[in-house]
Amino acid sequence: MRKPLIVANWKMNKNVDEALTFLHQILDELPDYDREEVGIAPQAFAIYPMMKAVSQTPLQIIGQNAASKCNGAYTGEISVRDLAAMGVNYVMLGHAERREIFKESNRTINQKLLTALREGVRPIVCTNGEQKMVGQHNSCYSIFRQLDNVLTGVPVSQVTRIVFSFEPTDAIGTGKHADLETAEHGCHLLRQEIGQRYGSQIANQVRILYGGSVNPNNIRLLMAAPDIDGVLIGRASLDADSFIQMMNYQQMALAQVM
Ligand code: PEP
Repeated sequence: MRKPLIVANWKMNKNVDEALTFLHQILDELPDYDREEVGIAPQAFAIYPMMKAVSQTPLQIIGQNAASKCNGAYTGEISVRDLAAMGVNYVMLGHAERREIFKESNRTINQKLLTALREGVRPIVCTNGEQKMVGQHNSCYSIFRQLDNVLTGVPVSQVTRIVFSFEPTDAIGTGKHADLETAEHGCHLLRQEIGQRYGSQIANQVRILYGGSVNPNNIRLLMAAPDIDGVLIGRASLDADSFIQMMNYQQMALAQVM
């Protein structure tokens, strides 16, 4: 049973006051943890005050990034060991913006992934696929090249600790979500690929998130797709009302569709 995971990626938005105000607005509306997990990835400096604010709740505070080294002369970097020391359970790695703007390579992401696993923080490994028409289908071959190098050295025993996300490049931050078929197809191919490497039993336990212009109007339908176990939400997660609706998508009528 794969527990749904809803993740807000705030990117470089919200100062500490704004982050704490947001928490104040949403904490009473959190869904039941037995049914669903919810997390917010704020800017790094907001993690500590937010961790303190949510200590009595199941809300996860998530790192947006971390270095492959745990300490030392790495000015500006974030230590995953110190995230772990604060009680942080998840860290995003290899988001499309890290890859594109900060030129992070698959090899760098692989090093970060191995460090996060070693330090006991669960990585949310982001992959992004170009959509290409292959026969009848939009397909997403570039994610497999990303996976090849990113998963090097990850032992089978650790794979189910990793959460993966699939984000079509042209759906991130554009307001144009992938159509349901493409979103499901990308997540399905990603699961198949994990299955080829680690076996279908493992692949069936791994959670895969869809990301790219998710909003309160499309989340219910996306979450009903068989291979989509959660969502990574950028822009629409910045507004508390919108986020409350999305984290409670299970209560929405299915009629609220894309
Ligand atoms: C993202 O940055 O991962 C993302 C999905 O952003 P948005 O929801 O704004 O497309």
